[in-house]
Amino acid sequence: MENMNVIDYIIVGAGFSGSVVAERIANVLNRKVLIVEKRNHVGGNCYDYFNENGILIHKYGPHIFHTNLKHVWDYISQFTEWYYYQHKVLGLVDGKKVCIPFNLNSLYDLFPLKLANLLEEKLVLNFGYGKKVSILKLRNVEDKDLKMLSDYVYEKVFLNYTQKQWGIRPEELDPSVMERVPIYISRDDRYFQDIYQGIPKEGYYKVFERMLSNPNIKILLNTDFKEVIEIDYEERKIYFLGKEFKGKLIFTGPIDEFFNYKYGKLPYRSLRFEYKTMEKEYYQEVAVVNYPNEYEFTRITEYKHMTGQKSYNTTISIEYPQEYDEKDPEKNIPFYPIPKKENVKLYKKYEEKAKEFSDVIFLGRLGEYRYYNMDEVINKGLKIFNLYK
Ligand code: FAD
Ligand code: UDP
Repeated sequence: MENMNVIDYIIVGAGFSGSVVAERIANVLNRKVLIVEKRNHVGGNCYDYFNENGILIHKYGPHIFHTNLKHVWDYISQFTEWYYYQHKVLGLVDGKKVCIPFNLNSLYDLFPLKLANLLEEKLVLNFGYGKKVSILKLRNVEDKDLKMLSDYVYEKVFLNYTQKQWGIRPEELDPSVMERVPIYISRDDRYFQDIYQGIPKEGYYKVFERMLSNPNIKILLNTDFKEVIEIDYEERKIYFLGKEFKGKLIFTGPIDEFFNYKYGKLPYRSLRFEYKTMEKEYYQEVAVVNYPNEYEFTRITEYKHMTGQKSYNTTISIEYPQEYDEKDPEKNIPFYPIPKKENVKLYKKYEEKAKEFSDVIFLGRLGEYRYYNMDEVINKGLKIFNLYK
């Protein structure tokens, strides 16, 4: 084991949150970092690999990089070139594959022309062309035609998908979850409108490899932090391999786990992926097709569309949401925090407790219990680095 006197920082978790901070400490401060990661690879949920058929797969579900933050795009572009890709999603509604987010094209695909004309006019009049409106907001309109439309979209696009994905109804979640996929009063069929979008040309794993290539960074894979770190909750001290660690600890695992579930467990949602490889060039029209109403799965991803890979065969993943259970190896990845009032309240208790540990910084989807996108955790990692360097 590394001589601990030469470790200046310990980071738990090698996803984007941990890796950005590690990269900055190693390259800018020229200080030594140890990353402790319980999986057998770096990259967290953004990890990708070539499967046995040579297809580049995102192991933990489809990851499209998109941001409006120029400094984040510039930062990550130091480690990769881009395959310029604009994400498109279709959803099966009443037997037709229509654009998701539901937009004017979806409207015309599903409604008779005259009615679609009327609804378009009313949408534009009420909200304006080019505007995005959350389904929860659209449901509050008085107009009876728009009310009919919002009930239809709520039922056919959001209700069943959300119940599959989260086990609860749309209105039980924080409104920001439905706002991620608004009704878009536009003909723009893209899933995101961010200025910068793409997929790392050689995959995400290469990005992480380059970010973590400085010899100042040591990585301990296959290691749960509890195997090497002990926390004295009374004295607020951290022990690494039995010796007091006086440097800073950046913790990007689940915050409730850090505190040994003192206030109870924070709920997470997990996923299961079923993979299929077929001897044909393409399986579906676009990278992702959502199935809000049929089947138990929520979506099918065909990775080649996103990566631009050329091959005679193709691999898809079928995504099944499931309950999280940290004791079951099939269900023990906390893919999503569940943004819901009572969970946020519980998280706030942990956040308050965390303030007592002035040398521990909690970061990321799990450390901050937030439904962050990649660009947001990178942005936060850069901010935290600048604050504490
Ligand atoms: P993570 O990537 O989860 O990394 C945390 C790391 O901590 C993990 O490697 C974990 O193994 C490790 N860890 C946990 N507990 C311990 C422990 N006890 N000991 C040691 N290590 C531990 N974002 C986008 O911008 N675009 C997308 O298209 C997109 N698609 C997504 C699709 C899915 C299905 C999911 C689940 C997420 C998606 N995201 C997307 C979000 C993106 O995955 C996250 O923003 C990002 O991975 C967060 O990084 P992180 O480092 O905070 O967390
Ligand atoms: N959603 C839905 N129907 C869809 C797409 C999304 O109901 O066709 C809801 C669902 O609750 C989902 C949320 O919107 O969890 C956010 O969707 P997003 O595509 O951002 O989810 P992610 O890619 O993060 O899993």
